[in-house]
Amino acid sequence: MSKRDYYEVLGVDKSASEADLKKAYRKLARQYHPDVNPGDKEAEAKFKEINEAYEVLSDPQKRAQYDQFGHAAFGNGAGEAGGFGGGFGDFGDLGGFGDIFDMFFGGGGGQRRRGPAKGADLRYNMEVTFEEAAFGVEKDISIPKTESCDKCEGTGAAPGSSPKKCTRCNGTGQIQFAQTTPFGRFVQSRVCEACHGDGVIIENPCFKCGGKGKVRKTAKIHIKIPGGVDTGSRLRVAGEGEPGDRGGPRGDLYVYIHVKPHKTFQRDGNDVISEVKISFPQAALGDEIEVPTLDGKVRLKIPEGTQSGTFFRLKGKGITDLHGYGRGDHHVKVIVVTPAKLTEEQRALLLKFAEASGENPAGVERGLFEKFKDAFMG
Ligand SMILES: [Zn+2]
Ligand SMILES: [Zn+2]
Repeated sequence: MSKRDYYEVLGVDKSASEADLKKAYRKLARQYHPDVNPGDKEAEAKFKEINEAYEVLSDPQKRAQYDQFGHAAFGNGAGEAGGFGGGFGDFGDLGGFGDIFDMFFGGGGGQRRRGPAKGADLRYNMEVTFEEAAFGVEKDISIPKTESCDKCEGTGAAPGSSPKKCTRCNGTGQIQFAQTTPFGRFVQSRVCEACHGDGVIIENPCFKCGGKGKVRKTAKIHIKIPGGVDTGSRLRVAGEGEPGDRGGPRGDLYVYIHVKPHKTFQRDGNDVISEVKISFPQAALGDEIEVPTLDGKVRLKIPEGTQSGTFFRLKGKGITDLHGYGRGDHHVKVIVVTPAKLTEEQRALLLKFAEASGENPAGVERGLFEKFKDAFMG
């Protein structure tokens, strides 16, 4: 059951301010309030829909979620499409059968029969860098999509003419017929073969679109990616999908995000993790080093006696929270590098250091060396 876009329900733009939303909501709520429309089921449903839309859009967090994930953000909860209403109104007694018929006689992809069908949704896969995902980015994308034909204004009929209502189905696009089964007599419906479910016949097709009412075009769309997206995030751009049939609402565009891996940073939720190598003397004596972060180089104090594997936190240097709750942290993991390939001087100093620490690794080493000399050099 498709659900109407919340912005569409309130008749506002996606960029509407809180004040705009409130204004639109008040106006509609007054118009469809049950007290003003006693006994009017349609007004009641509309009033519910308006309230649901306003409840989500007036809450900045819910609105952000909705902008990103659409209705899917709220699972199957809050005010579902209230069962099955209207589509098969004439056969109301059959109740849920309408849904089954919808499945069998398909065509509209789960759309309601009455009224023009909503256009198809589009999918676009977008790759962004680690930094773009962290801070957000705006991009123009080009997508091939179907546009309403401007010559015939989407009707498919040549300029000067207009589509005629199909006489076979009386413009409904459906033919109803009764069928007797062991369970009783059922009224079923099938797609009208004269108009293929369009409800209209075009006698004089438009030359530009060949009567389809649509043409293929490459559309440029400006996309705002909020900071905090991650691989698998899906952004919904309402109304940027394919146009609907016969003036139906447009489908939506879904942008699927893939974040390219970074060569030094890793991500853990809103936190960034990176590793930095320091020398044994730096670890032992302490130092101040520079570490790369999303904000560029930041100075980090290494205290005396730092062990390899210690994490240091750089507060607020992580990734922007998708819902506007500030930024995560950057955790720097310090790796102490054991010196290799010592010079004579370094070796001598380290031996001295070992001696001063009451260790005697050199004794072992010297012993081995002596044995080696004995064995090969006589
Ligand atoms: Zn046309
Ligand atoms: Zn027909």
